[in-house]
Amino acid sequence: MADLALRGDRSDPACATAGTWLECIECGETYPPFAEVRYTCDCDGLLEVRYAELPTWRDFSGTGVWRYDAALPVEAGVSLPEGATPLHEVPDLEAELGLARLRIKHEGMNPTGSFKDRGMTVGVAVAQRAGVDRLACASTGNTSAALSAYGARAGLETLVLLPRGKVAAGKLAQASLHGARILEVDGNFDTCLDIVQALARSGEAYLLNSLNPFRLEGQKTIGLEILEQFRDEEGSYPDRIVLPVGNAGNTAALYKTFRELVASGALAESEVPALTGVQAAGAAPMVEAIERGRDEPRRWTDVETIATAIRIGNPVNAPKALPGIRETGGTAVAVSDEAITDAQRALAGEGIGVEPASAASLAGLRELRERGVVAADEEVVCLATAHLLKDPDAAAVAGGDPEPVPGTVEGVREHLAE
Ligand SMILES: *Cc1c(COP(=O)(O)O)cnc(C)c1O
Ligand SMILES: [Zn+2]
Repeated sequence: MADLALRGDRSDPACATAGTWLECIECGETYPPFAEVRYTCDCDGLLEVRYAELPTWRDFSGTGVWRYDAALPVEAGVSLPEGATPLHEVPDLEAELGLARLRIKHEGMNPTGSFKDRGMTVGVAVAQRAGVDRLACASTGNTSAALSAYGARAGLETLVLLPRGKVAAGKLAQASLHGARILEVDGNFDTCLDIVQALARSGEAYLLNSLNPFRLEGQKTIGLEILEQFRDEEGSYPDRIVLPVGNAGNTAALYKTFRELVASGALAESEVPALTGVQAAGAAPMVEAIERGRDEPRRWTDVETIATAIRIGNPVNAPKALPGIRETGGTAVAVSDEAITDAQRALAGEGIGVEPASAASLAGLRELRERGVVAADEEVVCLATAHLLKDPDAAAVAGGDPEPVPGTVEGVREHLAE
């Protein structure tokens, strides 16, 4: 695995004080973490948070995201609280797929119903430290729901830019009730992100998309939790983690936490799970890049899928995520909307309610098992990114229809006997 050694210039006085700095993944330039607001390098490269000291397992205590404060850039933040989500057994699916072990990490059990809360608790803490007064994001829905709740809790103005008509009802309701200003943009998610980045660059708002390197630090805790939970229950680490990919922030965050654990000696390189990304066939630039061996994905201008949370044609974290997939021995796969809905039903049949994008991981795993890419002796964790109630319309389409009956006992009995 490349880049295990953290290359940061620890003698830089701005960095050395806190033992934390920002570093460009392209040119290696370093910046102080909090003294100025910045999202990318002067060379336009993506920034990563770097630490002089990396934690091992015994540095973690408590529960949830802040259990892992030793791996985070700040010690505490506005917390609702987040993390400590269940790792479900799914015996029927495990048997159907013919796998040694299958677990579902249900991130829908976070306070606003998606993993985005993990990034927001850290990202909003950094925003407070920077003294900003307006937070903003572009969103396919869940980022806006999370930012609205954390912004409200922090007492900060929140601005969300959403693609008009393409955001699931539950997510829009959350942003609305938590008091964000909602701008419905005539365009897709990628257009919203272009606009909000321009606002952020000119200092009109603090950006909390996954381009913000601090948000990804919070999302690392998904990986830390999966490793600890799996190890505590099964005595080993999973061979593979399968996850839906939109902007590829989670893929980047998981890869980063694995690299940090390897660098600190907490994890052997051979124990790093293979990162396996799943996209909807109608929005699959990352899959295309992996299949064709490209260093940079091509921007898809027309994207469409029932899995609106991953309806993204220009994944901004691709430069961080593609090496993660390649260097952990993972892969990427595209699945049809039909396969996503089937997987959503299958998870619901085991009592696990997720929104369509979240079911993409299982749909992708099914596809890779059929192709023989994933072996029968593998131990796999599928990441379910958000809750069923986020998108009630999609759930209603995937589920059975209510049956109208008369308002009498007799009428109901007759109906049941039909
Ligand atoms: C944001 C989101 C994703 C995509 O995550 P990335 O880190 O952008 O790849 C997947 N599923 C759900 C439900 C999401 O809200
Ligand atoms: Zn740079």
